Amino acid sequence: MEDNPLPSFIKSGIYQLNSTAVFIDPVRLLNRSYTRFRVSPSTYYSRFFDSTNSTQSPKASEDSRKRKRKQKKKNKVQSLNEREQIADRRHQEVKPFLLKAHEALLEATDILKVLRNLRNDGCVVRECKELSKESSELSLMELGGVWQAPMYEIVLNYYHDDKTFQNEGFPLAHSIEQRVTPVFNNLVANEGNDDIEAELLNHKYIIPKRSCFYMSDLQQIDSLIPADSDCGFNLIVIDPPWENGSARQKVRYPTLPNRYFLSLPVKELCHTSGALLALWVTNREKLRDFVENDLFPKWGVTYAASFYWLKVKANGILPGELDLFHHRPYECLLLGYCKGKVGLSHALELPLLKRILFFTSPCLLQDTHSGKLTRMNPIPDNRVFISVPGDYSRKPPIGELLLDYVPGPMPARCVELFAREMIAGWTSWGNEPLHFQDSRYFVSK
Ligand code: SAM
Repeated sequence: MEDNPLPSFIKSGIYQLNSTAVFIDPVRLLNRSYTRFRVSPSTYYSRFFDSTNSTQSPKASEDSRKRKRKQKKKNKVQSLNEREQIADRRHQEVKPFLLKAHEALLEATDILKVLRNLRNDGCVVRECKELSKESSELSLMELGGVWQAPMYEIVLNYYHDDKTFQNEGFPLAHSIEQRVTPVFNNLVANEGNDDIEAELLNHKYIIPKRSCFYMSDLQQIDSLIPADSDCGFNLIVIDPPWENGSARQKVRYPTLPNRYFLSLPVKELCHTSGALLALWVTNREKLRDFVENDLFPKWGVTYAASFYWLKVKANGILPGELDLFHHRPYECLLLGYCKGKVGLSHALELPLLKRILFFTSPCLLQDTHSGKLTRMNPIPDNRVFISVPGDYSRKPPIGELLLDYVPGPMPARCVELFAREMIAGWTSWGNEPLHFQDSRYFVSK
């Protein structure tokens, strides 16, 4: 471990707490995708920064929590049904790793100080915008469902610096090149090395450098399948809209019955040399059972390890009891390997395929020719990453933490399914991949 990991955290957004746990700042991680804009920390951290917390130190709060946890556990154990008992055993197995990671965070006084200020990080007051209730967001899901959807177009604005007269004392001039393209059921890409502003029905979106999105319903996902598996993906992150009480209650997005996910074309999306698959799951045992026994076998995925996302508040304490049965303050990322499928598929027209190939990983062609492959490390189990959560159900960008375990050529070709945001070098697919790209989540640099 580094002597002082703080300077590297300031740059990278990743702070190594010990050999098995890291603290991450999603805003810093995301900002690596942008050159002209940056993610506004106050809009990212729209929750968990209320200071109604007690004046107790994080350590004292944690001790009193531990006492309560013990008491609760005593009362609880007898009343669990069979499935809940399995879930509880699973929880007891992972708990020491979570506690160790959390203790390491509470001991890292330098990062705790940074943590308290993450929400205002690097923002001058005027820039620290709050999400205004009045400025309505475009419902991309609704828009994609209407009969006019094929006619909606997005305008991509590319800024070019015009240096012609700069030496003659004139200020640097800019020109704007506009490209217009259908926004639904179409691969939309920013192949440049700068982020760009895009317009859709009077709403502005910020598109990261070297990224692309395909906005469609699940029914059209086959359009993402490459005609040649050499052009498939090496890292596939999936955060499905699982059915569960809480998503239905808050109705932030539609959920789907588990059987729908069986038809996701995971094998077909894999690169010839295989892929690391990262699947977000909830803590419900019924779902774990479905993933292990139905979903992974159907997708041709072999389970490899589990990582855990532990959520903390701005003062470093957990937002809820670790032992609280239905509201655990952590989520699980199941990792597995997919062998990939050699052979051709019908789905992509060659021009579209070439665009995916070029935009998401411009070096792939070169690397395929040079035969450069990643040196893949064995994947460890029970890694913990800690962060302060953003908006409801928004997952931290964990691609960077997985790259060491991705098979195939470098740089990895990465895709996120059911995405709500975009990242440089990635393809984002879902019915609202532009959701967090709305300009209200950004400030200009
Ligand atoms: N990973 C995302 C994040 O960090 O913000 C959250 C993804 S959320 C769990 C699931 C997403 O799947 C939502 O954006 C939802 O609208 C989308 N979704 C639901 N039904 C869909 C469908 N039939 N086709 C495509 N996307 C769908």
